[in-house]
Parts: sequence; C-alpha cells; structure tokens
Amino acid sequence: MDCVFCKIAKKEIPAQIIYEDEDVVAFKDVKPVAPVHVLIIPKLHIPSVNHVAMEDKTLMGELILVAQKIARDQGVDKSGYRLVLNIGKDAGQTVDHLHLHLIGGHRLPWA
Ligand code: AMP
Ligand code: ZN
Repeated sequence: MDCVFCKIAKKEIPAQIIYEDEDVVAFKDVKPVAPVHVLIIPKLHIPSVNHVAMEDKTLMGELILVAQKIARDQGVDKSGYRLVLNIGKDAGQTVDHLHLHLIGGHRLPWA
C-alpha cells in the first residue's frame, strides 16, 4: 500500500523512531511545531478515527498509554502537552493513516 506511515512502520523509509512495540510506532514529526512533536501510530493501517472499529478499541487505548510514556520520557508530562487527532479535510489531515500528535515543550497557542 502506498502509505507513508505504513512504510515508516515497516522501516521502508527512514524516520526518527523513538518508541516501538508489537502494535505501535512513534517517531518525530519532520516538521515540528514545538520542541516536542511526536507522531504515535498503530502499525495497522487505519485511515482515520472515522474508520476505527470496535475491534480496535484496545489498540486505541494503547496509543494513549504510549503517549503517556513518551510524554514522561520527553520530560513534558509535568509541564503539559497536547494530544491531537486530525480527522479529514477541514481538520487538515494530510496523511491518511491514523496518527496521534504529541505536542509540547513550550506554551501552546490557545492555552
Ligand atoms: P496531519 O495534518 O494530522 O495529517 O499531520 C501529518 C503530520 O505528519 C504532519 O505534521 C507532517 O509534518 C508529518 N509527516 C509527514 N510525513 C512525515 C514523515 N515522512 N516523517 C515524519 N513526519 C511526517
Ligand atoms: Zn498506512
């Protein structure tokens, strides 16, 4: 499948991977909007939240637990961070493989 995040998960294209387990990969965003900007993805190709099925509910919980660990590892768990899921065109989703943005390290707009 011609999906850039599937390719990162399969190590077919490079990325700064900072976490990996059986189901989840996390890597640095190539265009960070803050000092800490990590993308957390399921290895399974799910195009967006609109495509999450009941059988994915454990996997979706894992994304949150991985985010919690990465926030700690990156030293933003106390200072705070934002978790963002963009869904579709109006939200500016540009990669059609579900990804959770973890953004922090400075005071964010709207905060
Ligand atoms: P979204 O707008 O939610 O679809 O976000 C897609 C994010 O993926 C953007 O922040 C991009 O900078 C990031 N991105 C796109 N391609 C790559 C890549 N090859 N490696 C790392 N991050 C990427
Ligand atoms: Zn994919």
